[in-house]
Amino acid sequence: MANFNTHLNGAFAVSGIMALTVYKAGLINDSGFLMCMALGTIGGLLPDLDSDNSTPIKLGFNITSFVFAFGLVMHWRNELSLLSLIALWLAGYGFMRYVVFNIFTSMTVHRGIIHSVPYMAVLGLATVSLSYYVLGNALTASWFFGLFLFGGAMVHLALDELYSVNLMGMKMKRSAGTAMKFYQHKDKWWYLLLYGLIALLVYFAPPVTEFWQQVYDPAPWAQLKVGILPDLLEDYLR
Ligand SMILES: [Zn+2]
Repeated sequence: MANFNTHLNGAFAVSGIMALTVYKAGLINDSGFLMCMALGTIGGLLPDLDSDNSTPIKLGFNITSFVFAFGLVMHWRNELSLLSLIALWLAGYGFMRYVVFNIFTSMTVHRGIIHSVPYMAVLGLATVSLSYYVLGNALTASWFFGLFLFGGAMVHLALDELYSVNLMGMKMKRSAGTAMKFYQHKDKWWYLLLYGLIALLVYFAPPVTEFWQQVYDPAPWAQLKVGILPDLLEDYLR
């Protein structure tokens, strides 16, 4: 398994380059660029958070609950009275902090569930919906936020995978091959719950086709001149 610094640097480097690429292409604005980089780096640290270091994960859950509650209040500020807004804030915070996140923290008690692809997919998809529906961010930015969080976590799992095999392809540790985890039989009910959540989040996710159309549009990418073959690439993109 790779250590904390490797994960921090790896996730920061990958998400930094990726964020700069989509930023230069004009697909995200200034704050979106910083958010993507931050979320990618956080994603790179998430899989190793478990019951052994529950302080940072509780802090993260608290912050997310606050942001969720404030997002709700901002969303309904014109329709509701001050008293209803306070009630909404408390209800939103309580729901996220004590219902949603209690389910997630009880999962992290079961070591290894959080260190998996589906758990990170749930967090990534939840980020997309939170950003789009609750915080009212733009569709493209919201999808990028979720993708960067998920991508950072995948960098983490890939690094663990790399560090568990040596260059000869021989197994150095028994942990080899278990980093990029999709399912584990001993935790089948937890995985069933995770995949159920993924289905639910995909169903309610903001429109993805519109996002893909934006990403597939060659015009923004044509602004990028990469390496020593800028003209060739430009011709290709044209
Ligand atoms: Zn790890």
